[in-house]
Amino acid sequence: MAVQRTFSIIKPDATKRNLTGAINAKFEAAGLRIVAQKRIHLTKAQAGVFYAVHAERPFYDELCEFMASEPIVVQVLEGEDAIAKNREVMGATNPAEADEGTIRKEFALSIGENSVHGSDAPETAAEEIAYFFSGLELVG
Ligand code: ATP
Ligand code: MG
Repeated sequence: MAVQRTFSIIKPDATKRNLTGAINAKFEAAGLRIVAQKRIHLTKAQAGVFYAVHAERPFYDELCEFMASEPIVVQVLEGEDAIAKNREVMGATNPAEADEGTIRKEFALSIGENSVHGSDAPETAAEEIAYFFSGLELVG
């Protein structure tokens, strides 16, 4: 498997509880390198653009409110098979179903406030990275 890049967000529930370092330690222990990172505070409209794919879902409004409620940390993670590796480290969307040792099992509060986002495919990874970072900010 080739070296890939994936896009990651440390969500408001986690930044609020001062868990940025603890979550980054999980990524690094799994062999994922943080090649770009910044702390930002989205507006609800910006969160809506990012999660537009979920616009028809019943939780969309709540999700956008939540993502704009506190600062987030946006990141690019690099490594072998990074997209799948990151999703493995994150664990299932619902923390009640997440495996032991995963970020969501350890830190997530609920299916909505689940501490991290990770891209789900190469195309979405490329789009999401480009939405938040310029090429100059990616330092591998
Ligand atoms: P993400 O895209 O954030 O990495 P995911 O791919 O595991 O998470 P998705 O199905 O893409 O899950 O859902 C996007 C986000 O929407 C979830 O991470 C969660 O914050 C929120 N969400 C998903 N399902 C629900 C739900 N039933 N109720 C409330 N919020 C939800
Ligand atoms: Mg998703």
